[in-house]
Amino acid sequence: MYKSPRGTSDILPKEQAYWRYVEEKAAAICQLFGYQRIDTPAFEETSVFARSIGQGTDVVDKEMYTFNDHSGTSMTLLPEGTAPVCRAYIEHGMYNQQQPVRLFYFASIFRYEKPQSGRYRQHRQFGFEAMGDADPALDAEVIGMSWQFYSSIGLRDLHLQLNSIGCRLCRPSYVESLKQYYSEYRDDLCTDCKTRLKRNPLRLLDCKKPSCLEIARSAPRSTDHLCASCSEHFNLLQKYLDILEIPFELNHCLVRGLDYYTRTVFEIQPEEEGMQSALGGGGRYDNLIEELGGKPAPAVGFAAGMERIIMNMKRQSIAVPPLPEPKVYVAYTGEQARAEAVRLATLLRGFGISATTAMGHRSLKAQMKQANTSHVSYTLIVGEDELRKSTVVLRDMVRGEQLEISLGEVATHLQRLTWEEP
Ligand code: AMP
Repeated sequence: MYKSPRGTSDILPKEQAYWRYVEEKAAAICQLFGYQRIDTPAFEETSVFARSIGQGTDVVDKEMYTFNDHSGTSMTLLPEGTAPVCRAYIEHGMYNQQQPVRLFYFASIFRYEKPQSGRYRQHRQFGFEAMGDADPALDAEVIGMSWQFYSSIGLRDLHLQLNSIGCRLCRPSYVESLKQYYSEYRDDLCTDCKTRLKRNPLRLLDCKKPSCLEIARSAPRSTDHLCASCSEHFNLLQKYLDILEIPFELNHCLVRGLDYYTRTVFEIQPEEEGMQSALGGGGRYDNLIEELGGKPAPAVGFAAGMERIIMNMKRQSIAVPPLPEPKVYVAYTGEQARAEAVRLATLLRGFGISATTAMGHRSLKAQMKQANTSHVSYTLIVGEDELRKSTVVLRDMVRGEQLEISLGEVATHLQRLTWEEP
């Protein structure tokens, strides 16, 4: 028997109420802050990611789903959502619009990771990007928006972690001091970190192995190496977050897994778990648009993992409204009545009343059982006798009452009843 590929899953109908709820809340927040939706393709030329995310990151080195298409061009399924939005910003000349350009997206993300709870090979992200402005107030807006998004869903006990990793000017000297510090611990580092020390020292702070975490704890802090302008930016951001009354914790080990970040980085964690469980994160990427071939345009963004959000909603027993189910079930007895049932269901849908019809040759009893499990409000029973009189039986499934109405009145009658429903 076939199964969905390892690290992927089917989102079955019974799960869809959560997805719809979270997506609606996400879109509502974006509307509230004036962000417009963008949809980009599910794959891009590989270099869009290789140039932006960076060599030496786990994502580029080990996790991308890359393939040559039939013309021999190397393509990659989205391993993250920011670079494609930047590519679109450049391609469509959005730098000519009023800045910042505020966009949001939903995208399926593909990473060849070791599957475990909350970590999949395909997951869905909701993200937003504000491009074309360096103001720390924009960082505060993006962080505030993500904070408001989680609270609008009802998630509690979240922690916002914040750091600044500097810019092109001040980062090199910081990385140098990191290298010096870590060189003394070379023998104690895990194999991956030994490579990181050579290829991408900032990533050393990201390692989740307990022994490496211990070494990271006393490592030099990026915030002690910021240039005057990055330092002012970070101070202002913290001031704005205080004004917005958003509580945050400074975490000097927070560097995020992608190389394009500059200055602000942040992550949102649930209370009970460690670093593997981030519900979302983001930061500033002031050089990315330029690195992808655009005019320099500073920007900041955020992305959240939908599966983890839903997992945490369930953990916190957050209920969501059920999805609407069909209002009317049309049952019938006999061949002639079957044709009339099909016609009636179509007629009702034309009036905007959702309807489903019985199929095949089930007994009326079996059809009524189906109507019950479908949770419909009303059942229409089309019988041969009633057809002769041009009537139909309407059963109120909640009250258990039934009455006979003329065929010509069915739609208006039901329309009145469904309007009256709360
Ligand atoms: P990232 O771009 O890695 O910061 O991812 C943004 C968010 O997506 C994370 O905070 C997680 O909530 C979620 N996420 C990242 N990777 C995965 C994964 N492999 N499976 C499920 N969710 C993920």
